[in-house]
Amino acid sequence: MFPSLRILSGVEMGEPHWHAAACAEVLAAGPFDRLLGSLHCLPFGDSYTEPWNLYQYRDAPPVVRDYLAGVAEMVATDAAFEVLAHIDYPVRSWPLRAGPFDPWLFEDEFRYALRATATSGRALEINTRIPLHPAILRWWHEEGGEAVTFGSDAHTPELVAHAFAEAAEMASAHGFRPGRNPHDLWGRTD
Ligand SMILES: [Zn+2]
Repeated sequence: MFPSLRILSGVEMGEPHWHAAACAEVLAAGPFDRLLGSLHCLPFGDSYTEPWNLYQYRDAPPVVRDYLAGVAEMVATDAAFEVLAHIDYPVRSWPLRAGPFDPWLFEDEFRYALRATATSGRALEINTRIPLHPAILRWWHEEGGEAVTFGSDAHTPELVAHAFAEAAEMASAHGFRPGRNPHDLWGRTD
């Protein structure tokens, strides 16, 4: 029905630096056009758990700080991924009791993780599950980030590309521009 539609293949690997063998097995089934890496869990007791659960046991700000430190660790490895997905993952479940999420409380930690991501040569995903705070995109640009991608993290067909128009406007406003093809990474304008 849509002969001009091009569908790329991709995979998001959670904690790829902790699961090198399992990731290699998945990647061997490829090829994949786009490899994303992300952090979903932090150490908890003898195991690991997600921020939404950690917030029930810990103050909210240290959870975010630990998450961003974990991102910096992950991107410093040679794990096989080219895009860092949803750096704002713990913001999705930020608890009401902590008041509105204020990215400036975590500016140093965001900048550190973003700088490490830029140094690794990876791109930053603008994930539209929740709106990415514009300050984080500004810091990405200031810390030397070379490229952004867009992901709706849809999980259901009707949410594919949700809020992409707004995300694209924000990326343009922060110094990134589209490539030749719609699926290309967006590079810097300067
Ligand atoms: Zn994810």
